[in-house]
Amino acid sequence: MKKDHVKTVKFGGSSLANAEQFKKVAEIIKSDPNRAYVVPSAPGKRFKGDDKVTDMLYSLHGKAENGEDYSELFAQIRKRYDEIIEGLGMMRDFLDEDFAQIEAELKNGTSADYVASRGEYLNGKILSEYLGFDFIDAKDVIFFKKDGSFDEYKTNAVLKGVLKTREKAVIPGFYGSDPDDRIVTFSRGGSDITGSIVARASDSELYENWTDVSGFLMADPRIVDDPKPIKVITYRELRELSYMGATVLHEEAIFPVRVAGIPVMIKNTNDPNAEGTLIVAKTDYIDTKNVITGIAGKKNFSVITIEKDLMNSAVGFGAEVLGILAKHGLVFEHLPSGIDTMSVILSSHQLENYRDEIVNELCKATEPDCISIEDGLALLAVVGRGMVRERGTAARVFGAIAKAGVNIKMIDQGSSELNIIVGIDENELEKATRAIYAEFIGE
Ligand code: ADP
Ligand code: ASP
Ligand code: MG
Repeated sequence: MKKDHVKTVKFGGSSLANAEQFKKVAEIIKSDPNRAYVVPSAPGKRFKGDDKVTDMLYSLHGKAENGEDYSELFAQIRKRYDEIIEGLGMMRDFLDEDFAQIEAELKNGTSADYVASRGEYLNGKILSEYLGFDFIDAKDVIFFKKDGSFDEYKTNAVLKGVLKTREKAVIPGFYGSDPDDRIVTFSRGGSDITGSIVARASDSELYENWTDVSGFLMADPRIVDDPKPIKVITYRELRELSYMGATVLHEEAIFPVRVAGIPVMIKNTNDPNAEGTLIVAKTDYIDTKNVITGIAGKKNFSVITIEKDLMNSAVGFGAEVLGILAKHGLVFEHLPSGIDTMSVILSSHQLENYRDEIVNELCKATEPDCISIEDGLALLAVVGRGMVRERGTAARVFGAIAKAGVNIKMIDQGSSELNIIVGIDENELEKATRAIYAEFIGE
């Protein structure tokens, strides 16, 4: 069987939050016979303030681990699925065995990853039954190494072989298994990664990622009112934006499709006719109007600042500092430096357990005149392939931020001129985002 125009489609949590949403999803899939491989998330929020099933499952595991009574929470989770099953007219006992198995595993002290993964597993079973597609358990085709990292080589080999034998299939997102056959999950939002892996292994011509917004928007819609959608974005721009907090697509989801040159299309399950965003390797598409493609920001960073006279001539100073961070397994984001100062910007949560230890070690190794750690920093990225050809973009970014009364603490412009990153007080991230959006796109 030759499969020329296959598409892999991933549906996010809100797209599969209840029976109504399942029906929309089935309609979308059935409307295009090329939509052959389907990757579902666990049921997400049905309304503002609702619980995501994945969060409920993590709590369930927490309660079981602490020896607390979890029967009520277990029943609530079961109810979420029963409502979907009933709403779709399926047999009530369809998941009985699976829930019995989950309960038995909980009693056996199973892992958080196993419990969390059941959100996708159960949704995948329902969806495959409803669509009449084969069900492929992700544990049999998505593999992790012993150290918990994704095993790209084994996954590709096995998944390719399995998909060749299945014309239409549902593969649950978010999890796989390790060499000991234990369930392992990706980080949160990881179904996007599974979708990308499946798209690559199936040689899909397109990876469609269906969510609850009409594409990748120029700014976070929770910050800017009604931001404009981005029509076309490159992998590199997307990587910058998703890494910096535009959570539409998991920051690691881009890699498998990029290797294979497969474009990604972000679409809205609740408005399938909206154009969406196409993510491609390169584009000849010139946005004549838009200098910037998007804005994204992330809170919760810390700056370690080290001052020492004549630092500029101290050979190996930087290596010493970075060596200490590396020893503790810490990764840094930016490294702005002056003649006699060096700052390291890193996510605050990494410092939680090492704060004093790191300061002590840095003091011992570098004998600084002054060393400090400041928390509460946000990083804001302004990204755009159009910036290269446009002069004065940085001035406009800084001007807009200054006009909004926000103080800039750090500036970093990548040498590729694809992005400008500023560090600001995290309480002012929203204000600065709105100011830049207004400057470049309009109110
Ligand atoms: P899913 O459950 O479908 O995977 P996510 O919640 O992971 O969906 O991602 C979609 C959400 O990302 C949107 O509802 C929106 O609130 C948020 N978001 C943040 N930044 C952006 C952006 N630049 N464009 C679109 N959505 C964004
Ligand atoms: N259900 C998982 C989560 O909530 C994975 C995903 O939705 O992509 O993080
Ligand atoms: Mg997501």
